[in-house]
Amino acid sequence: MTRLRTAVIGVGHLGQHHARILAHLPDVELVGVVDVNPEQARLVAERLGTRPYTHYQPLLRQVDAVHVVTPTVYHHEVAAAFLEAGVPVLVEKPICRTLAEADHLIALAQRAGVPLQVGHIERFNPAFEELLRRPIRPKFIEAERHGPFTGRSTDIGAVLDLMIHDLDLLLTLVGAPVERVAAVGASVFGGHEDMVNARLEFANGCIAHVTASRITRHPKRRLRIWAPEGYAGIDFVTRKLILVQPSEEVRRYGIPLEQLDAAARARLKEELFGRYLQVLHLDGDRKGDMLTAEIQHFLHCVRTGERPRVSGQDGREALALAERVLDALHQHAWEGHAHGPVGPHQLPAPAGYLFSPAQLARPEAEPNAEAA
Ligand code: NAD
Repeated sequence: MTRLRTAVIGVGHLGQHHARILAHLPDVELVGVVDVNPEQARLVAERLGTRPYTHYQPLLRQVDAVHVVTPTVYHHEVAAAFLEAGVPVLVEKPICRTLAEADHLIALAQRAGVPLQVGHIERFNPAFEELLRRPIRPKFIEAERHGPFTGRSTDIGAVLDLMIHDLDLLLTLVGAPVERVAAVGASVFGGHEDMVNARLEFANGCIAHVTASRITRHPKRRLRIWAPEGYAGIDFVTRKLILVQPSEEVRRYGIPLEQLDAAARARLKEELFGRYLQVLHLDGDRKGDMLTAEIQHFLHCVRTGERPRVSGQDGREALALAERVLDALHQHAWEGHAHGPVGPHQLPAPAGYLFSPAQLARPEAEPNAEAA
């Protein structure tokens, strides 16, 4: 197999992992790494035995594929330059800042006849992959994505930084357009929203509640689905999938509450999960690295011309939904009318203090992991 010549543009927090993985794949040559910060480019290049650049221009005609891992504001400029040169692109999520930019990238990829993949990495989470193998038609979904403030990705807010992962997963799972969006959220650090909750109503009757926060103390990334087929819960961090379905007995006859005597009723609680509702715990493959799986899939698409699992169009649809959430969020009237505070940058005046500063001195005021 000929070695694919590749490069990574933007080797900060995430890009250096893209570069590390590429440098260790046997059928790939990492031609160079690019970063506007010369010291960062030099450090990463030295570590991986490749060449550092501070601009992507010299690499346009030297590579067979490229990864764009710059801050989102530069995705369009960099990805467009490579697509115009006929080079397949893996661009990190969100695909771009605007739908017009995303449309432009999709058109360029089509014209060049090369794959454009977007880095919605949760699609490669083994627990999500496992779920998609099963016949589930979600009717109510709760998605939560919480993390502590990292100081990165401050060019975008929690919707484009975090929630867009779940918006892409929801569109994949539900397979119907979103008819209505309501959202509420707040900016704590000033620039963009840092926490947000959205309620999405899909054309097929499914309803989703999606929450994202980058100011939560303890990270949490999970999805809970209720469907006619049963219940599915995914923990994206541990890659665990829990499936619950009604037993054959319940499917046929329901739970015959009125026919149960007092003793049987007393046993119901113990027998609910087991006899009536069957539970399956599945541990997703924890050895495989999701970023490696995503990159290998991209390289496979580059070699075969196959459509990527997360195409430019998928990235665009997730962005379009994210924009609707942002619109709803910016129109949200905290007091129920437009004369009061509206949107994430204005909050209602606090009604008082939740606790007095003196209470902080007492240890029980420290929140535990469960409560925070
Ligand atoms: P970062 O700030 O740590 O790294 C970005 C790097 O790009 C920096 O080193 C910066 O100097 C460099 N850079 C800036 N402009 C450049 C340009 N024009 N050309 C070359 N280099 C440039 O950010 P990060 O956390 O690594 O995020 C990068 C991208 O990856 C963002 O789009 C972010 O949304 C995405 N991301 C995706 C995931 C995921 O789960 N898929 C996770 C984290 C970040």
